[in-house]
Amino acid sequence: MASARQIHVGGVPIGGGAPVAVQTMTKTETANLQATMDQIRRVAEAGADIVRVAVPREPDVAALRTIVAESPIPVIADIHFNHTLALKALDAGAHCVRINPGNIGGPEKTAEVVARAKALGTPLRIGVNSGSLPKHLRDLEFSDPVEALVRAAVEYVELMERLEFGNFKVSMKSTSVPNTIASNRLLAERIPYPLHLGVTEAGTKWSGSLKSAVGLGTLLADGIGDTIRISLSTFHAEEEVKVAWEILKALKLRERGPVLIACPTCGRLQFDMDSVVAEVERRLEAYDDPIEVSVLGCAVNGIGEARHADFGITGAKDMGMIYSKGEPLKKVPTEQLVDELFKEIDRYYAAGRTVVRDETQAADAREWLAAEEDATAMTPERMAALEAAGAEADGDGAPVSPARLDEDASPVAGRRFTRA
Ligand code: SF4
Repeated sequence: MASARQIHVGGVPIGGGAPVAVQTMTKTETANLQATMDQIRRVAEAGADIVRVAVPREPDVAALRTIVAESPIPVIADIHFNHTLALKALDAGAHCVRINPGNIGGPEKTAEVVARAKALGTPLRIGVNSGSLPKHLRDLEFSDPVEALVRAAVEYVELMERLEFGNFKVSMKSTSVPNTIASNRLLAERIPYPLHLGVTEAGTKWSGSLKSAVGLGTLLADGIGDTIRISLSTFHAEEEVKVAWEILKALKLRERGPVLIACPTCGRLQFDMDSVVAEVERRLEAYDDPIEVSVLGCAVNGIGEARHADFGITGAKDMGMIYSKGEPLKKVPTEQLVDELFKEIDRYYAAGRTVVRDETQAADAREWLAAEEDATAMTPERMAALEAAGAEADGDGAPVSPARLDEDASPVAGRRFTRA
């Protein structure tokens, strides 16, 4: 369930049913204004809704005012240990300040930060990390790490409520994916405040993306989580943003830019699809519209499998084909496939999002496709035709059960449906 409460970080609503917000964190020394602003602009361009900057020293908090003024997206100041820096970050105009009540110096100092945030109308993020739980929960952490995390978060929430402060979101981070899932599920049942999700120290671009996709994806699919950050060991924060978007797009929670579909390839592949897919992905970055583009390694199964795609390509040794919504558009030499694909996409936009089809070229492509297709393969179209024919033979108009299909029609048919 989405959180009941909503807060605003700058102009970005968090929780209460708002779209899941994408966050990242700069990797630069915050005091290095030029480098920090360059990175903030890059992550904003990549689609970050909010950016967090580390504020561990005085020069960082001194730079914060300029960063807040110049940043195209709201800025969260990340503070550990030093409540004076948290107060200064609030005074510098940070759109939100992240503190961990477990390491900020006790309830009195937390109360001071809360009082200043309340006076300024600035939200806080209350962050709990598995590595910095309060002392009295250390034994519990050993026996039940999930309950220890949740209890720490609930205790901090109760502290906020005693201070009559409700303008905050909560994060609980663990390096363990199962613990991240279990603790956030429990916390979402216990508190109404927005949740920030992340798997901390997730790892490299490869392993960290996968861990985050599993951990955050599971929670988001349950409707838990109002803002996310993908933590990756890379200096390129925009990579974190791209992964976050792929997770949200895969779950159909948000749309941004094109969706690329590509077959996994197999022994039927006859052209260099690896570099074609990479090139298509790179060139699609220039488009904002959520069009679906598909790349099939061959036409063995026809192009019906990609019938939802707005545009797609499939290739053989020397020749390939461009299609739209499962219908051939034209055949082109393989080395021109990508260029021609993008010409068709641009033509579509120039015509006001209308596919422009030349019937002569389409007929040529259809002919090529018929020659390339495996005549014995059970394409979706052939399956449908067989079912329709079976129903007619039955005379009852009902779809024929798969077990009645003629296995001789295709050598792969037996692997495609379960026999009764
Ligand atoms: S589309 Fe062709 S190359 Fe790609 S996985 Fe399917 S059969 Fe293999």
